[in-house]
Amino acid sequence: MSVIYLDNNATTQVAEEVLEAMLPYFREFYGNPSSMHTFGGQVGQKIRTAREQVAALIGALPEEIIFTSCGTESDNSAIRSALATQPDKKHIITSRVEHPAIRALCAQLANQGYRITELPVDKNGVLDLENLEKSMTPDTAVVSLMWGNNETGVIFPVEAAAVMAHEKGILFHTDAVQAAGKIPIDLKKNAIDMLSISGHKLHAPKGVGVLYIRRGTKYSPFMIGGHQEKERRGGTENSPGIIGLGKACELAAKNMDKENTYVKKLRDKLEGELLKRIPQSRVNGDTGNRLPNTTNISFEYVEGEAILLLMNELGICASSGSACTSGSLQPSHVLRAMGVPFTMAHGSVRFSLSIYNTEKEIDFVIEKMPPIIERLRGMSPFWNQSCTNQ
Ligand code: PLP
Repeated sequence: MSVIYLDNNATTQVAEEVLEAMLPYFREFYGNPSSMHTFGGQVGQKIRTAREQVAALIGALPEEIIFTSCGTESDNSAIRSALATQPDKKHIITSRVEHPAIRALCAQLANQGYRITELPVDKNGVLDLENLEKSMTPDTAVVSLMWGNNETGVIFPVEAAAVMAHEKGILFHTDAVQAAGKIPIDLKKNAIDMLSISGHKLHAPKGVGVLYIRRGTKYSPFMIGGHQEKERRGGTENSPGIIGLGKACELAAKNMDKENTYVKKLRDKLEGELLKRIPQSRVNGDTGNRLPNTTNISFEYVEGEAILLLMNELGICASSGSACTSGSLQPSHVLRAMGVPFTMAHGSVRFSLSIYNTEKEIDFVIEKMPPIIERLRGMSPFWNQSCTNQ
């Protein structure tokens, strides 16, 4: 059975060009990039090129790029550095809809005595910057807000938030794991101090990420060891991964228009047709300000996980906004923060597309989804009750 992959916010397929760029660095050019000899040095040269390619995608300087192992490491490093370099400050501001790479870390920091403010979002997942203004105090070490939400695609006004933080002398970090490669980022034109990227979300492999640190920003390393990454991240470099990420960033810059035209058009077609064909369905998140590849749709009175199982039987891959934890289906923290009604939050499915999806695939999904929802609603006592009440 062929797979229709609409789960690109979970991970992406490595681009063919990326794999090609990486392959020689596993067996042929396996030298250590830090070695004195030419054999290792040539790998070091390729890593320099990758650093330039990553910097070019986000309008940064090559020396502002630190290669890490993943988005989670980048997020953790940014927050921990902000705290380590300002030991007298004990307050962090973030939002209720951040990825666990920030949320779970903040929960741990709260247990260690730090004060955490999680800014709320409205029913469309939109952040009100007035709440940020009110929350900043002389004790605030860092504001960390994601650029694009992984579940809904909603884009936060991080550039404006960074200016507000700077006016109060507070560091600003953004988790741009979902935004990088999908929407333009130009760090020359904004006040963002730190930014996280993950390779596997933009057609590079798993196991490589980036932390951008603006020149002049104090940084305290998370990984202590050798002299790699100018002593900002110890550990022998993942040369194939880094080289692949460089290539992926070069491709992402070239494909940015395609993301915002072709991919967006496919996403809009999928969303529009599903809403039209399936009663009592709705989009979660601000449809006017979203990543071009993401739609999160709730189908009332059905379980997201049941929908995914039936989709899976047809080879369609997506994600649900509810997760089976300790035997109970809990809607995601993002949908809960948005106050999505219980019967809607449970039946949410996230479709996340990429440039590799085709119109034929989208047409197939549009055709198959209505009978799936109808079948599940036929088994739902809540749906039958809601029909009787109407
Ligand atoms: N931040 C966001 C917004 C994400 O979506 C993810 C992954 O889903 C991460 C951070 C973590 O990235 P990684 O899987 O590379 O650790």
